[in-house]
Amino acid sequence: MKIGVLTSGGDAPGMNAAVRAVVRMALDKGIKTYAIYEGYQGMVDGGDRIRPIGWNDVGGILHQGGTVIGSARCARFRERDGRLQAALHLVQNGIDGLIIIGGDGSLTGAHILQKEWTGLLAELVEKGEIEQAVADQYQALKIVGMVGSIDNDMYGTDMTIGADTALHRIVDAVDAIASTAASHQRSFVVEVMGRRCGYLALMGALATGADWVLIPEAPPNLDDWESKMCEVLAEGRHVGRRDSIVIVAEGAQDRYGNPITSQYVKEVLEERLGEDTRVTVLGHVQRGGSPSAFDRNVSTLMGADAVEAMLSDAPKMEPIVIGIQGNEISRTPLSHCLEKTWGVAEAIKRRDYERAMDLRGRSFSDAFHIVRTMVRALPHEPEPGQRRLRLAVMNAGGPAPGMNTAVRAAVRLGVDKGHTMLGVYNGFRGLIDGDISELDWMKVGGWAPRGGALLGTNRDIPEGRDFYAIARNLEKHQVQGLLMIGGFAGYQSVLELYARRDTFPAFDIPIICLPASINNNLPGADLSVGADTALNSIAQAVDKIKQSAVASQRTFVVEVMGHYCGYLSLMGAMATGAERAYMHEEGVTLKDLVEDVRQLKKGFRRGKRVGLMIRNEMANEIYSTSFMSALFEEEGGDLFDVRQAILGHMQQGGDPSPFDRILATRLAARCVDFLEAQIGSDNPESACIGQVQGEILLTSLEDVPRQLDKAHSRPKTQWWLDLRTVAGVLAQPAPKKKGSKR
Ligand code: ADP
Repeated sequence: MKIGVLTSGGDAPGMNAAVRAVVRMALDKGIKTYAIYEGYQGMVDGGDRIRPIGWNDVGGILHQGGTVIGSARCARFRERDGRLQAALHLVQNGIDGLIIIGGDGSLTGAHILQKEWTGLLAELVEKGEIEQAVADQYQALKIVGMVGSIDNDMYGTDMTIGADTALHRIVDAVDAIASTAASHQRSFVVEVMGRRCGYLALMGALATGADWVLIPEAPPNLDDWESKMCEVLAEGRHVGRRDSIVIVAEGAQDRYGNPITSQYVKEVLEERLGEDTRVTVLGHVQRGGSPSAFDRNVSTLMGADAVEAMLSDAPKMEPIVIGIQGNEISRTPLSHCLEKTWGVAEAIKRRDYERAMDLRGRSFSDAFHIVRTMVRALPHEPEPGQRRLRLAVMNAGGPAPGMNTAVRAAVRLGVDKGHTMLGVYNGFRGLIDGDISELDWMKVGGWAPRGGALLGTNRDIPEGRDFYAIARNLEKHQVQGLLMIGGFAGYQSVLELYARRDTFPAFDIPIICLPASINNNLPGADLSVGADTALNSIAQAVDKIKQSAVASQRTFVVEVMGHYCGYLSLMGAMATGAERAYMHEEGVTLKDLVEDVRQLKKGFRRGKRVGLMIRNEMANEIYSTSFMSALFEEEGGDLFDVRQAILGHMQQGGDPSPFDRILATRLAARCVDFLEAQIGSDNPESACIGQVQGEILLTSLEDVPRQLDKAHSRPKTQWWLDLRTVAGVLAQPAPKKKGSKR
C-alpha cells in the first residue's frame, strides 16, 4: 500500500504533529508515504509536488506551527477537471490511500473526490491517460480525514487540530489586554476568529472571565440587546470592576441575522457609556505559533490512528474522520460528519438558533449558560422561597494552576443562587484553625486567570485532635456542604472526615472533591485541573532545552514531576518527541537502560544530534536522574555527551491554560449543583467529581478507597497507560523487540 498525506485549507497548529505521526506510523507498518505538497494544488499539479517522505523528513517539526508540507486553497480542485488531473497523479504515483488534514471545505473536497472516483478513472481510461488494468487496480481509494481547523467547527470530534492552540493565543492576549484595560479603566472589544462557530469566543470568554460575549449560534435574545449589555457593563463599573472586556466572534449576529461587528460594539459602548473603548482584532495571531501540548498529542494520536484505519481490510472502505471523543480516538463516517456540520450552518442561516446550539452539543451549551451567569456584574436577586445554603470552599494538596478559576466559578455560581459561600484559607490547616470567612461576588473578581492558590493550600492531613477542631468550626460556621478543590492529600483528608461521620455529626454533610493536581493522579477523573498547564510548561521548557543543543551531539535527561504518576512524563515525552519516558508504573531495570544506551548510540551513529529522555521524579529510587545521566555519559563515549535538567517547581506555577480554566469552571458548576441537590435530601451523599470519557461523572466516596493504590498515591487503573505504544513507535525507528513493553 502507498498513501499520500496532505494538509489543506487554513493552516492550523498541530498539523505537523499529525503529518509526523502519519509518516512514522506508516513506516512502522511497512507502508510507503508520499507527501502531497501545497494541499490539493499539489495533487492537481503533480510532478515533484508529490514526493516520498521519510522518517527524518518529519524530525524536529513537532513543535512548529503551520504545516511544513504547505497548504493552499485550490480553485481548480473545485472543478471536476481539476479532480481528474488529481486522480491521474494519484494513480501515476501508485497512491491508493489518502490522509487529508484540513477543514470542512477540504474534507468536502475529499468527499466529492471519493464519490466521483470510479467515474474519474473511467474517464482517464477513455482519454487514454491510463490503462483499464490500472484503473481496475486502483478502484478502491481509501480516504481518512482529520479535522485541522482552529475554529473547532466540525462534527465528529470534540476538538479540531489547532483549536486548543488558538485558545492559548486568545487567552494570552485577553489576559494582557485586561491588565492594561484595568490600569486605565478602559473598555476593550476583542474580536476573535469564528465565522460560523462561536467556540473560540465562548471558551475564550469562559477562560478569561470576560464581561460579555457575542457568538453566531446564540444571538442576544432581545431586540435592544445593546441596552442590556451596557446596563451590565455599567453595573460592573459601579461595583468596582476596573476593566470591561467584550469578546466578539467574527460571525456574531443579532437574532435577525444582521452582523454585529466589533466596531459597532465599540460605538455603542462609547456613545451610551461614554467610555474610552478600544478594539483589538486578534486576526492571524490565533492561527500561528507553536502548538500547545494538547494539540501536539491529540494530532499525534489521530495521525497514528489514521494509518491504522488505512489498514482496515474492507475492500471499499467508507471515508472516515478521525476525531477525539472524551479521551478516545474515534472514527466517524465522513459523510455523517459533513451532514451534521452543514446542519449547524443551515440552522444559523434559518435563524433556528435552538437547533444550532443543540447540534453543537451539550458541553457547548453548558459553557454558554455558565458564561451567561458569570458575566453578570452582580448576582441575581434570590427568588422568593429559594433555599439559602451555607457552602464552604477550600483548596488542599499541592498548588495546581486552575484552583483559583474553580473557586471563582463556585463562589459566583453559588452566590448567584442565593447561597452564602465561605472560603477556608490554607487547606485543612485553616479548617482546623478556623480560618474561614465569607467570599462574595467581587472578592473573587479577576481570579479566573491567576495561577497559584489565592485561598492558600498545603498537604496537611488532619489527625488526632484535629477532627474535634474541624467539627467545631464546621458547626460554628454552620457549614452545610463542603467543596474541596485539590490534590491527593486533599482527597485523603476528605476520606478521613468521611470515615468519621458517625463519630462527628458535623462531618455528615455532603462533601465533594474537585480534582486539581498537576500530577493527574486522582480517582474518578481522567484529567485533573492543572495537569494541562504543567504539560504545556514542560513542552515549552523542553523545546528550549532541545534548541540549546544545536551545535553538539547531546542527550538530555529531563526530570518531570508527577509524584508516582507517570502521566506528565509520558505525555510530556509525546509532546516533545522524546525517545523514552521513564515512569514508576513501568519501573526501570538495568536491562532497559542497557537497551536505551544501545538505541542512543545507534541513533547518534546515524547522525542524530539530540537525544531526549523524560523521567518521572519517582521512576526508580536507585536509578535516579543523575545516575542515568552519568551512565549515558560514560557509555556515550565520543558519540554524545549528556546533560540533566530537573524542571522542578516551574511545573506547578504559571497561569492556568485555557483547558484547565474551562475544566475547572465546568466541574465547579456541577459541584455547586451537586451540593444543592444533596443538602436536605433523605440520603445525602458525598462524592468526587471528574471528567471520564468526556462526560462529567460522580464517584461516591464510599467507592474511592477501593480504587486507590494508596502506597503510590494514584488510582489503580490509569487510562493513559495505553498510549505508551504509540509514543514508543513514533519516537525511534527501532524494530520492535519481542516482549518489549513499548
Ligand atoms: P478549509 O478546509 O480550511 O475549510 P477551504 O474551505 O478553503 O478551507 O477549502 C480548502 C480547499 O478544499 C479548497 O481550496 C478546495 O480546493 C477544496 N474544496 C473546498 N470545498 C470544496 C468543494 N465543495 N468541492 C471540491 N473541493 C473543495
